[in-house]
Amino acid sequence: MSSSTSDRRLSELWSCVTLDEASSLIDSTSSPFSLQNFVGGQYIAPPDSLTSSSQHITSFEPKTGRPIYTLPCTQPHAVEAAIKAAKAAFPSWSKTARAERSAILWKVSELLQQNKEVFAIWESIDQGKTLDRARVEVDRAISNFSYFSTFILHEQTAARMVDGVALTYEHRSPAGVFALISPWNMPLYLLTWKIAPCLAFGCTAVAKPSEVTSMTAFLLGDIFQKAGVPPGVINIIFGDGATTGAALVASPLINGVSFTGGTQTGIAIRRLTAHQIGKHLSLELGGKNPTLVFEDSMVPSVRERTIRVAAMAAFENQGEICLCGSRIYVEKSVYNDFVRDFTAYVREKYVLKQTVGAVASLQHCDKIRRYLELAAEQKATFHLGGAPPTLNEDEAQGYWIEPTILTDVAKNSAIQIDEIFGPVVTITPFDNEQEAIQLANDSEYGLAAILLTTDGARMRRVGEQLEAGLVWVNCWLVRELGTPFGGMKNSGTGREGGEHSRDVFTVVRTLHLPAY
Ligand code: NAD
Repeated sequence: MSSSTSDRRLSELWSCVTLDEASSLIDSTSSPFSLQNFVGGQYIAPPDSLTSSSQHITSFEPKTGRPIYTLPCTQPHAVEAAIKAAKAAFPSWSKTARAERSAILWKVSELLQQNKEVFAIWESIDQGKTLDRARVEVDRAISNFSYFSTFILHEQTAARMVDGVALTYEHRSPAGVFALISPWNMPLYLLTWKIAPCLAFGCTAVAKPSEVTSMTAFLLGDIFQKAGVPPGVINIIFGDGATTGAALVASPLINGVSFTGGTQTGIAIRRLTAHQIGKHLSLELGGKNPTLVFEDSMVPSVRERTIRVAAMAAFENQGEICLCGSRIYVEKSVYNDFVRDFTAYVREKYVLKQTVGAVASLQHCDKIRRYLELAAEQKATFHLGGAPPTLNEDEAQGYWIEPTILTDVAKNSAIQIDEIFGPVVTITPFDNEQEAIQLANDSEYGLAAILLTTDGARMRRVGEQLEAGLVWVNCWLVRELGTPFGGMKNSGTGREGGEHSRDVFTVVRTLHLPAY
């Protein structure tokens, strides 16, 4: 595709300010839009050698199942070219004054703000999420840039005295060129959660979004160009994990990897980089998070909040958030009440009001359906879901799963153990606090936990025993961007957020200066 053709098509994407307009644009094009890598500050058409169909991936709209765009499956030699562009940009960007880096990243946040609705529309079309949910995530993407652009203006460093002998202080410098790899559930938000601190702390990067949801990453290139990010500082390439992602993380030119995705992929990345000891690795992986509901949280004054928080934690973004509470444990004395009220609330809020979107891909939809078949085979009780949802004509080929509430699921069933990552929740009774903690911690994962109780002492007593990197008490998904974000056990290693992101993207040397 010539560059003027691609410019025209890019401007068509930017011109859509409603979902209907975007939808008509998809219908009106004879062939799906083709995404192009953004390398060295410009979009580049794939070379002729990449035009064979096996080296392109087609992305489908989850709500309708129709093709929306194709992306190149970037091959190792083209991955290397992108890494070299990032490497060439590093010496200058890493020495650029913080005030200047800050101003450029602030400009990125302003441009995102100005184009907020367009990003939300394409995110909703590409991922399957509702437009309201997409808007929340674009807001968070904007905050990623505004937060880190100002964070770097107020950094401090630690100094210590060795009495009468020396003053020591910590000096940090940018760690180099990073691979930034993200999943498909919150595409723009999670990719910018990596790009913003990476660039703010003076590193350069090659970013690769999920092959399932690449559209908003594609639009981002244009924003970086307009904000004046120097060529090569951020490069965005498209492709799958086996070809593009693996070549990227394994390259000896890459100094660090910030990865968010599944645990098995995290293990593969550890293997691919095992011999590169100095490579920084931040791995944010899967979860199978518990929600604990204590009797005191079901008293009339707070019952509505308890149900609302548990439901939101289970079904927001179709359950496709790594932090979702997909295993609910309820104190026996209020178990029946909870199941009844929770089911009624979810039916009203998520099913009748249609506030759940489609799941991200056909492959993922099939995976969730297999778990539901297993639940039926194992004679679990379906309080909601389990049957094909009622769909209109447009949606008939889409990837829809009705919110599903299950009880009577065996403790050792795959449904209770595996991360399903969809709108499926199990509810199980417990007898006492100790059993609740033991059930909550009985998982290979340790990302998040939700604790619903009004007992102040219990909030700390239980909260501090939960094997989870993030514990929310009577709330969920509240984020302050400086707090350490990350998981225990097989949910990952390393923390990101504020100064923890600084640890990922910088190297520290300690200087010892003699006292006399
Ligand atoms: P995934 O691991 O399949 O893919 C994630 C990314 O890794 C994609 O861009 C993919 O192309 C790439 N990839 C795959 N194989 C690779 C390889 N060998 N080398 C390098 N890159 C490779 O995950 P997914 O299915 O896209 O996302 C769902 C998973 O992400 C869930 O497990 C979910 O819990 C997790 N997740 C975790 C967090 C968190 O913060 N902990 C946040 C969101 C999602």
